[in-house]
Amino acid sequence: MDEILTSEADSVRAHCSLEPEVRWQEAMRRAIRDPGELCRKLDLPESLADGRSAQDFTVFVPLEFLARMRPGDPDDPLLRQVLSVEAENDTPDTYSLDPLAEQNASVLPGLLHKYHGRALLVTSGACAVHCRYCFRRHFPYQTVPKGLQAWQEALDHIAADPTISEVLLSGGDPLTLVDPLLQSLLGALDRIPHVRRLRIHTRLPIVIPQRVTEALRDMLAATRATSWVVVHCNHAAELDGPTLGALARLIDAGVPVLNQAVLLRGVNDSVAALEALSLRLVDHRIQPYYLHQLDRVQGAGHFEVDEATGLQLMAGLRQRVPGYAVPQYVREQPGERSKTPIEPRPMP
Ligand SMILES: *Cc1c(COP(=O)(O)O)cnc(C)c1O
Ligand code: SF4
Repeated sequence: MDEILTSEADSVRAHCSLEPEVRWQEAMRRAIRDPGELCRKLDLPESLADGRSAQDFTVFVPLEFLARMRPGDPDDPLLRQVLSVEAENDTPDTYSLDPLAEQNASVLPGLLHKYHGRALLVTSGACAVHCRYCFRRHFPYQTVPKGLQAWQEALDHIAADPTISEVLLSGGDPLTLVDPLLQSLLGALDRIPHVRRLRIHTRLPIVIPQRVTEALRDMLAATRATSWVVVHCNHAAELDGPTLGALARLIDAGVPVLNQAVLLRGVNDSVAALEALSLRLVDHRIQPYYLHQLDRVQGAGHFEVDEATGLQLMAGLRQRVPGYAVPQYVREQPGERSKTPIEPRPMP
């Protein structure tokens, strides 16, 4: 597996010569938004891309992420996560626009409070990559408050409820906020005495690792509340040198980092792929947290791995890696008070 990763990285580095360091905002600005261009850059036929689904949910791929894909491979596990394809138009009708019924769980625009002790703030509608399987691909981000003024109602709600001891910043991706805005939001939450933990759910350090600047690291390390970072990475090839470096900067500063992944057909649906991901994470001090069953969102049907197969993969993984490298295999069920563990049915 390591051999594959090394040769993969080498071939790609040679293929797309990247400048050493572009500021993260510039990396966002120059990201690929045209599915045909994405194919061309990887020496693949443009016919692989589908225009209709790309209108429904646009393609957005930073060059830093592209650089980890294998040119000429239409089945590359990273490409599969981001390229709009024909199959998206064939998702069964049972797949919904809002599979988690989040519109009902919103206490306020942009604030979800479903689980005991934890409130989730949708801080930004923007992401640094568009993942085709995303359960929020149809989320009405236009209704998300923007700026501290707009968050005031959510902040008041959190301040008035002493049972909320943890606030999750999610999105979109909260790290798409510029530092001064993020700082004022973190500061406002940090001043609420019963908020003991801040949790940042982000894919940015994975796709554009230079987002983890010293300033960001210091900001997260300096909060009174304990800051946790949960990144989202589905395949070992996403964890290249710059990304592992970015995560090490956080961990070295005392910020714990967890990873969540989604079980995706053609991306990580083998014991070998899950094993490589888990080991690469724990080798670099990152704890695998969740492996999510795909949420049934319109456009993502071709990514589904059935739960029986998922359980077999988990059993295989458990035989190969240390216990602390095994993520919890869960699904999210609307109305439940926690994520639901997916476990083998007891023998009859
Ligand atoms: C997933 C989720 C959380 C966090 O759940 P954990 O099991 O603590 O990771 C909190 N709020 C909402 C709305 C969620 O969807
Ligand atoms: S980064 Fe997260 S929220 Fe954004 S598209 Fe990907 S999975 Fe969805």
